[in-house]
Amino acid sequence: MIPKSIVIVGGGTAGWMTANLMMHHWQDLGVKITLIESSEIGTIGVGEGSTPFLRHFFETLGIQEKQWMPLCDATFKCGIGFPNWCGEDGNKQYFHPFYNEIDSQTAVDFMQSCQHRRQGFDTPCLPDDYFVTAYLAYQNKAPYDGQQKTIGVDYGYHFDSAKLGTFMAQHAMKMGVKRVIDTVETVHKDGENIGSIDAKTHGRFDADLFIDCSGLNGLLIQQTLNEEFINYQDYLPNNRAVAIATPHKESDELGSYTVSKGLSAGWMWQIPLQSRVGNGYVYSDQYLDKEAAEQELRETLDDFESPALHLKWTPGRIQNHWKANCLAVGMSQGFLEPLEAPMLNLVQQTIELFIETCGVSAEQQHKNTFNITINNLVDGTRDYLQAHYATNSRTDSQYWRDSSSNQHRSSALNSILTSWRTQQNFDTSLASHHEVMVYGKTSWYCLFAGMDYFPNIDKRGLKLINRKHQRAISYCQQLLQRSVHQYRFLNAVEEAI
Ligand SMILES: Cc1cc2nc3c(=O)[nH]c(=O)nc-3n(C[C@H](O)[C@H](O)[C@H](O)COP(=O)(O)OP(=O)(O)OC[C@H]3O[C@@H](n4cnc5c(N)ncnc54)[C@H](O)[C@@H]3O)c2cc1C
Repeated sequence: MIPKSIVIVGGGTAGWMTANLMMHHWQDLGVKITLIESSEIGTIGVGEGSTPFLRHFFETLGIQEKQWMPLCDATFKCGIGFPNWCGEDGNKQYFHPFYNEIDSQTAVDFMQSCQHRRQGFDTPCLPDDYFVTAYLAYQNKAPYDGQQKTIGVDYGYHFDSAKLGTFMAQHAMKMGVKRVIDTVETVHKDGENIGSIDAKTHGRFDADLFIDCSGLNGLLIQQTLNEEFINYQDYLPNNRAVAIATPHKESDELGSYTVSKGLSAGWMWQIPLQSRVGNGYVYSDQYLDKEAAEQELRETLDDFESPALHLKWTPGRIQNHWKANCLAVGMSQGFLEPLEAPMLNLVQQTIELFIETCGVSAEQQHKNTFNITINNLVDGTRDYLQAHYATNSRTDSQYWRDSSSNQHRSSALNSILTSWRTQQNFDTSLASHHEVMVYGKTSWYCLFAGMDYFPNIDKRGLKLINRKHQRAISYCQQLLQRSVHQYRFLNAVEEAI
């Protein structure tokens, strides 16, 4: 049953993504959408990296990169680099690419090499050698050639979240979404449902469906419908971040990947935008207080003046994302932590699955299936994130030692870790957890190989002659030659507008 009237509370990235996608799919059915956002409360002000899913969001809406990227300070994201996650004997850093068909041959070669290494042979297993996006990233290249044609790799984006919000708001309003700037003060229940809401100056709003995009507090789903929040801090202890934006240094080239660098009690992101760099330290308050975290970030950045934004959250999720006539999207659904930037992907998948399910039925059994699917998505993401900490080999601080020895893990993650470290068939083990497998096989191989998480079988003398490694390097280098420097590409796009 498609709702005839919808009220969205919240105008952060989640609220405007929801408004755009719902209006796009349902405008021909005469659906009315109102979005209420508070100028007093504001948005979270971070969240600047995406996965390739965001490409599909813009494609669905028929918005081209040249229309939105220059307005949102956006750059390409070829993947994520992970320096400082291993101990002294391990890899200094590794790259997590966004796999697609262009990598199909080199990915097979990479995984075979990893299989040999798991058996104790001395084979080259750094993902950086096998995936062309790593080459693009390390050379600050765009995933395009000089004729502005894509070279066929998959990629995501970096963007200024406030500017993206403004862009999406304008697009949604052009399609007919009504925007109201006001603060919701009271929410009225009608039995199990939300009946209406009262905003400070605009008064009462009724709707068939209420969407909670109000951020971490979950005004409708948690505070009004009392939906249970499941705390994941035992799995993922990070619950704070401090963010500092810095100008590009003169010597900097415009980077095309996110850096996620291990620090003393957590990790730091570096996200290059066109006009500045977004930086932030994600940590756990069990190990570090906010002053010490800010100081460590400032020393790492060599910046003692730019303003700092401190954020905190409880990692976890709610149990029912669709409850009665209320759907939660965004931070109101819960939040894990920023590693791997999975959150907007969850936002998008929640909206798309909701639209698809509503087209069939809003009966309780369909709501249940919807909620199970979203929970699997969050839990599968949680496991992949936790695997970064579980496989780290740093011993230089209590944080890293506790992270690797933390036994509070799902049975799926335990079995995946065990099968990699023993002689079990790893691919079969991964496949057996397909219902919670959010990240594909290549991502798991990249993580474990990148972290040097191989069994301790000492056959170092057994070196295999590996022509496939050389073949992968040549293949990636050929594609690299076709690509253009990101700053050149973005300048050309801007000049053409
Ligand atoms: C440190 C950190 C880093 C992150 N990095 C990434 C990343 O790289 N990639 C990624 O995908 N995600 C990231 N995220 C998550 C990402 O920021 C959010 O998923 C995204 O911004 C969506 O947030 P939101 O719209 O749900 O909430 P918010 O941005 O908090 O928006 C809430 C909205 O609700 C409104 N509101 C609240 N109460 C009321 C009320 N009473 N009346 C009216 N309006 C109200 C506010 O005005 C605001 O418009 C990060 C999060 C954190 C904490």
